[in-house]
Amino acid sequence: MFMHNKKLMYTVQVAEPNPGLATLMLEQFGGPQGELAAAMRYFTQALGEEDAGRKDMLLDIATEELSHLEVIGSIVAMLNRGAKGKLAEAALEEADMYMSLNEGGESHTTSILYGGAPALVNSAGVPWTAAYIDSIGDPVCDLRSNIAAESRAKIVYERLINVTDDAGIKDALTFLMTREVAHQKSFEKALYSIEPNFPPGKIPGHPAHADTYYSLSQGEGEARGPWNEGEQWDYVDDREAQAAVDGGDGTASVKLPKAEADAVKDFAARTASDAEANPVTGADLGAGPGAGKTTALDE
Ligand code: MN
Ligand code: MN
Repeated sequence: MFMHNKKLMYTVQVAEPNPGLATLMLEQFGGPQGELAAAMRYFTQALGEEDAGRKDMLLDIATEELSHLEVIGSIVAMLNRGAKGKLAEAALEEADMYMSLNEGGESHTTSILYGGAPALVNSAGVPWTAAYIDSIGDPVCDLRSNIAAESRAKIVYERLINVTDDAGIKDALTFLMTREVAHQKSFEKALYSIEPNFPPGKIPGHPAHADTYYSLSQGEGEARGPWNEGEQWDYVDDREAQAAVDGGDGTASVKLPKAEADAVKDFAARTASDAEANPVTGADLGAGPGAGKTTALDE
């Protein structure tokens, strides 16, 4: 069950309204790295978790993310509060109202459509979607994904901190950003509490392919480093050795029942191309300046 506490997790003190800035803040309300996505990611993982420790952690952090959603949503609401009042009460002349709503970004959209309330959209107005949640139901995969999600959320907060000089907003955003750092540390500990945790899953990788590095992009700019150099790596830059690495002939085949094989053969015969033909086409008939070489019509 959920219970609600009317106190925010962190105090929100906004110096002055700013609908344009509110729109940018929506990135962490309804965006892919935002708090709703984080809350739903960990909540759904918690419901499917078998390990008591991880289940408890995921529920704790999911609930904290909902509390973050409330904080960032309150920042959006405070930044839009003046615009909401003016719009609802038609407090300005039309032209002045238009100007004030178009001060930045998509703020006119969020003002007109959502009346200044925080909407579950990102800073470009794209609606939140469950497609932001990439859980796959394997703890070492999901923990790695959670670690990456926390690091992305940290960076988005950092960028938001850099676009405002409002001390109260900076303070609240710094709290939210720092909590994502703490979450990343918990997820790292939970991941490394599973031994072994690499590779994910149960079926081992094939030893013939686990230590090979294929240098498939060749030319100026070849670089070596610990990711492809040293005892661990078998570096393959020979083009011949990069294809059909199983030792086979590198073709694709399938055994078909006779009736299906015959039908495929008929289809191939019916759609066969004639390499000897040089047909006149619509491109030839309609050709004008810029067409390049075409087939002569009077052959
Ligand atoms: Mn958060
Ligand atoms: Mn987090």
